[in-house]
This record gives sequence, C-alpha cells and structure tokens, in this order.
Amino acid sequence: MRYAIISDIHGNLEGLQAVLRECSLAQVQAVLCSGDIVGYGANPKECLEIIRQFKIISVAGNHDWAVSGRLDFSHFTDDGRRAVEWTRGHIAMEDIAYLNALELSIKNKDCILVHASLYEPQQFRYMTNLSKASISFPLMDVPVCFIGHTHVPGVFVEADGKIYNMDNSTIEIQLKYKYIVNVGSVGQPRDGNPMASFCIYDTQLQTIELRRVPYNIHEAQRKIIEAGLPRTLASRLAVGR
Ligand code: ZN
Repeated sequence: MRYAIISDIHGNLEGLQAVLRECSLAQVQAVLCSGDIVGYGANPKECLEIIRQFKIISVAGNHDWAVSGRLDFSHFTDDGRRAVEWTRGHIAMEDIAYLNALELSIKNKDCILVHASLYEPQQFRYMTNLSKASISFPLMDVPVCFIGHTHVPGVFVEADGKIYNMDNSTIEIQLKYKYIVNVGSVGQPRDGNPMASFCIYDTQLQTIELRRVPYNIHEAQRKIIEAGLPRTLASRLAVGR
C-alpha cells in the first residue's frame, strides 16, 4: 500500500490541491489526514468538500473541534480565535456535523493517526521534544504513528530502548522499532520553508518520505486578505513561520 499522510490544511485550498496533484503523480493509493482541515485559511468549505470527495480519512484537530463547538478555544491566539469564528460563518451545517464527528485517533494494520499526541490526545499538546515523544511510544502497537499540530515536520524513533530524532527526508522502516512522524503542514508550514509539507508511506518498500511542494502562495494570501481574516495569517505563509 502506498499512503500519503497530510495534516494541518487549515483551509488552504491552493496548498491542498498542489499536494493532492503530487500524490496522484506519486501513485498514492490512499490519503490520510492528521487533522486541522479548517482554521486560518479562506477556503474551509472547499477543503472539506475535497476531503469528503476523495474519501480522505481524517482525525480531529483542535481547530476542527473548536469550529464544531466541541473544544473550548478561549486559549487560542487572537488570530486563531478570529479564524475559528470566521470559519463557523463560512461553512454549512453538514460541514460542522462532519467536523464534530471526527475521532481523536484512527488505527489500521499499518499505522495510527492522531493530531497532537497519543498520550492524552484530547489535550492537543505539542510534541516538540524527545521527552514529550517518550510518553506516546508506549501507547503504540503498530510501528508508525503519524502526527501534525506543530506544523514542523520531523521524526522521532524508539530503537533498542533509546529515543532520538531523525532528520533524513527518507526513512527506511525497521519493523522492530517505532516511529512517530510529524508530517508538517499543508496549509501553514512553520519550519521556515513555505512549501506545503506531507509524507508518503510505502508499506511494500517500508519507506517514509517527507516531501515539500510549491503552491500558489499569492493566491492563498489574496483570499485571506479579501475575506477580512487577520493579515498576519496571509503574511506568514510567505515565510513559513
Ligand atoms: Zn494546526
């Protein structure tokens, strides 16, 4: 099976379309999403339609549940709160119901998918270092876990009792080890690289490949400004921060 795993689309239609084009060129058979389909960007409705049309299986992100009313978002940043409220006014009841029904984690025989961490996933904590990763590894009974949330791609590995980071863009999976792969963000990368981020997981070859794709950032920015969303949500796309 050749999977693509995407995350943190955040209503960025141009980013999502560019990534899905790349997936089809890469002969991906199934696309999975680690959450945050909406929030920040100007096309939440269009992104939700694509997710459903292509039967992309997604878990819940904090923004998805904030928009649906399932998560208190009073602690979000000002931009985040304004985006949640704007998004609520620009999607349909059926979209709200879809977001509200998303689950915190989904597992198949090859991998498990969660937005932030397997440990207390409902808290949506950022997995930013080895000690934060270490409490999720014991909860894995498949070799690979895909996450998003930080918008920074990267890989944590647990091998022979040790936990460490890998910064290769292609990883050869050893089935006796465990891997937590942050696939980065399609719609609002924050690692200083403005290109959309996602990964391809090939279970035949047992490889995971982190990829970057250029997309029409100007168009995504233009729509954010035109929508009256905070201007910083547009400007940050150009710098990937
Ligand atoms: Zn996010």
